Formats: sequence, C-alpha cells, structure tokens
Amino acid sequence: MSVSLLVTVALGAPQFVAAEPVDAEVARGAWDAAVACTGWEPEAADEVRIERGNVPKGFLGLASTDERGRLYRIELDATDGRSSEVIVHEVAHAWVSEGPTALVEGRAELLADCMVHERPGLAPLQWDDGRELVSMPDLRSWRAADDHGPSVNPLMRTDAYLGAARLVRLASLVLPDGALWPEADNIDWIDLDAMLADAGQPGELLRDVLRATPEVQRKALSDRDQDGLPLVGEQMLGTDPDRFDSDADGWWDGAEVPVDAVPLPFDGTPMCSGWATPASGGVAVLKTGGNLRGSPAPMPALRANDEVFLKGRVAVVGRASILVELEGDPEVVSGGLWARVHGKGLVEDDACVSDASRVVWASDPALREAVQPLAEALQKAVARAERRFGADGRRLAVQLGGTSTTVDGPVIHLSTHEVRTALRTGALDDLAYQAVAMRRVWDESAVVREWRDVVALANLLARDSRPPAVR
Ligand SMILES: [Zn+2]
Repeated sequence: MSVSLLVTVALGAPQFVAAEPVDAEVARGAWDAAVACTGWEPEAADEVRIERGNVPKGFLGLASTDERGRLYRIELDATDGRSSEVIVHEVAHAWVSEGPTALVEGRAELLADCMVHERPGLAPLQWDDGRELVSMPDLRSWRAADDHGPSVNPLMRTDAYLGAARLVRLASLVLPDGALWPEADNIDWIDLDAMLADAGQPGELLRDVLRATPEVQRKALSDRDQDGLPLVGEQMLGTDPDRFDSDADGWWDGAEVPVDAVPLPFDGTPMCSGWATPASGGVAVLKTGGNLRGSPAPMPALRANDEVFLKGRVAVVGRASILVELEGDPEVVSGGLWARVHGKGLVEDDACVSDASRVVWASDPALREAVQPLAEALQKAVARAERRFGADGRRLAVQLGGTSTTVDGPVIHLSTHEVRTALRTGALDDLAYQAVAMRRVWDESAVVREWRDVVALANLLARDSRPPAVR
C-alpha cells in the first residue's frame, strides 16, 4: 500500500518552475511535506510558477489559485531574506485556501509548522516575535485584502496574521490531529465553534475569546512571557502566563518534549546531551527543533573539550562530554528550542549533570570523577546563597578543567589545578562556595569585580552553616 501511495504522490505533484533553482527545490520539498502532514494531496496546475518581484499590497508572498482552488503561481517579495519560510507558507495554501481569512491564514501557518517539522532544514518556522498585537482587528471579520501591509517593518507579518496563527495553533492543541486540514478544505467559524464545543473546558476558553471584542481577543492572544504560548493558551494548559517555564523543569510552557532531547536555555548555558565520546573519540551530530520563532534566531551549538562548535556535525577527539547550547542573542524570539545529539561511537555520559538550575561537566577527562560530587556540593552552596541573598534566577554553569579559574560568558571555569587540589584535600565544598561566589560577584550589574570579593563571599557562605533565624 505504501508503495502505491508514493507513486501517487510523485505523479500528483505539480512541477515548480522558478528563476532561482533553490525556490523550486524548497517548494517541491514543501509540497511533499504537506502531503505527509495532511495525508492527502490537492489538485494543482501542472506547472506552478514561482516569481520574485514586487508583490501587490506589500505582502511577503502571494499564492494564486484558480476558480477550482488549484495553485498555479507563487509570488515572493524579492527583498525578503526569508524566502524559504514564505514559500512554505504559500505552498500550504494549495491545501488551505477556502474560508474566512483568519482561518485560512492561521491554518496555512499551522500546516507550515508541520511541514518544517516533517522536513527539518526546509525553512525556519513561521515567524512570530511574540509581540503585543496592538493593531489586530476582530479576527472574525478580518479580510487580508483590507490589511494595509506589514505594520512595523516590511519583513514582518502584520498583527492580524500573527493573531490568526496564534489562534489556530491553540485550537490545534485541543482538536484531533488533522481536524484543521480536512480534504474538503473549507472550515468556517461555525465549524470551528462546533469542533471547540466538543473539546471540553479548554475548547470553551477559546470559544469565549472568539465571541469577544477585538480588545479581549488581543489580550487573550498576547504572550507576556514570550514562551510561544499566548495568555488563553496558558489558561487552557494551566500554566503561568508570566513564567516561560512554569514548573521549572527546564522546558518552556507548551513545549512538546521529544524523546532523548533536552531544552536549550535562553541564557546560553549548556545542557548535557546525555552522550560522551570514548577515549578513541567519535562523531557527534546535532539535531534541533521546537517552537522558536523570530529573527534573528540564536544558533544551536555543540560543546566538547572546552570548545564550542557552530556546526551540526563535529569530530570529537578523545574522551569528552557532549553538551548543547544556544549561541547568540535570543531577545527577539518567542518559544524555545530543543536539541538532540546522536552520532558514531558515542557512549552514555555518566560525568555530566544538568537540570533547570545548574550544569556541571569536565573538559579535562581526568576530572570526570569530580563532576558528581561537585554537582552535589554546588546544590548545597546555591541553597545557602539563596537563603542569604534570595534567588538570582540564573542557571549555574560550571566547567572543570583548563589552566585558569575564570568566568567566560555564562560559564564558570574551575582550573584543573584547583579541582585536583580540592579533591586531594577534601575541599570540594569550599570550591563550590567559590563557584557560587564567582557567579554572584560577576553578575552583569556589578561595577567592580574583585577576586577579594569572591573570596570574602565564599568564606561567608562556608561559615554560614546555621539555619536562618526564625522571626
Ligand atoms: Zn497566506
């Protein structure tokens, strides 16, 4: 059966013709991905032309369908640097072109998300910087033809597009798979309302939003904590609208947690991938996913042997923990990314400890035995510092090994000499107090960063053995 399905796919796909070969390639990949997502294939013209130029009305892209709903042309804004993302959206319109504008556009964005997940690397996820939707009209009566082009910057979608996408993504959380891409195509507000009514209490919350004024819609679809889950979504899932990661498990709210994957913290601190190379070395391959949206996105990176690699595939020399992290500034994105490592000759890593509050690993293979005990000592030291000064809300990242003890970006380095000495003299606790003190003293807001402050603070924490006074 699956063989005949594949043949059907190959025969049914239109030929994409473009001046830029890469455009046709992306469109073809998008088409196949959409077939896999929806399980059906729409009719299209035999040939679909992709044209770069000035798209009418300042749209980023425009899909043209004939009177039978068949896609025959995709126009792209020639100045748009995100053409693959736009092509994916426009190809989605071959599946979704009938109905109210907000539902057509929102469903196209939802299908585009699935297409990108189906084919990693096809395009970035559909863009959304998590901003307030101040100029979003009533979604029920919005007509794209009346939209006066992008509101802030020519590369951005309008508030109405973002609102429509947020709404439909939320509906997809409570509706059966594929319910929003029926082969009949058309879904109107009455259909959606009926489907949500069958979806219990979370569906009711969304129904209320759709019946409400534009002000209420804008508020419900706002995303204060930038986790990619709008306010009404936080209510639907019972999460905290003011916290990116409500339960502090390291995963942002609304995240789908893939097997073997770890969340990538926005502060640039690494996470253990769970894998290490043996003494003979190995090859590590990085895979990422998630619901990160916006531009420019921070880069996922691999870390091993005291080096950070901005590559998806790295040959690692000798025995080393493989870690994953984000490089770059994530301020203008919403949602979060996860990473998963696989590769040749990797073994399970027993010398890397990470959770939502800390990460400890050894860049010097000779110090691997110190990782577990130091991670425990750090937990105690952090608790002591928090009791005295309050939580500083940051992850503690500690790397063991190297020639100097220092702070490098979000990572505290403890030198090989210092860790060895602490191991030999049984002073791991003191080393943990020092690491916590370094983090506190090297706070970005600190004007003066003196070693004597670190020493004084570490000594204070070491002596501070009594429980806090009861008032
Ligand atoms: Zn569209």
